[in-house]
Amino acid sequence: MAKKGHLTVIAGPMFAGKTTKLITLYRVFKKLGYKVLCFKAEGAVVENRNGKTDSHDLRSLQVTFIENKKPQTILKFIKKEKPDKVLIDSTQFFPDAPTKRVVFKLLNQGIDVVVNGLLYDYKRKYFRLMHELFDLADERMELFAICERCGARAKNTERIAGSTKRLEATSKAKYIASCSRCHRIYKG
Ligand code: ADP
Ligand code: MG
Ligand code: ZN
Repeated sequence: MAKKGHLTVIAGPMFAGKTTKLITLYRVFKKLGYKVLCFKAEGAVVENRNGKTDSHDLRSLQVTFIENKKPQTILKFIKKEKPDKVLIDSTQFFPDAPTKRVVFKLLNQGIDVVVNGLLYDYKRKYFRLMHELFDLADERMELFAICERCGARAKNTERIAGSTKRLEATSKAKYIASCSRCHRIYKG
């Protein structure tokens, strides 16, 4: 049987360095001569800045934006470009079942997949997709941020402004990282 791809899942709250880690991996893979494609859900950003996404400390990564509801579009790019590795930023913006199918298809084609995203929403409820992928991963990286209220290790994302929708791009809502003691659930 052909070799299966390797699944790496990078999880953690906002500001934990998930996008930064993806950028680092992207640069190393490129340097080593691999063909790498990066994707992100368009709902994760308010404006598409020429296919670029930024980390919170303004390092940028070239990504292809994909309609939130259509993660299967990724497969079209794969067919055309035949990458060795696929990286997906802010994966929690994509729907559960179709996204899992896309990831499995890539792995079955021998493509290594690295996804990052939030395990919990701002109400501390699981994002099912990220949880399932985390459980299935060959390699798991759980990153943490620093609590903006007390300086402790933070594993939660706290919304402090914006709507009460479960998913809201950073430019429309405001977030901080907080520890479980300090975390408050935003009521709008
Ligand atoms: P993520 O993709 O996980 O949201 P990024 O990789 O975009 O995170 O950004 C990580 C950067 O965010 C850190 O290197 C740091 O400069 C910055 N940052 C801002 N607030 C915090 C915080 N509360 N805890 C940790 N890092 C923070
Ligand atoms: Mg990020
Ligand atoms: Zn705290």
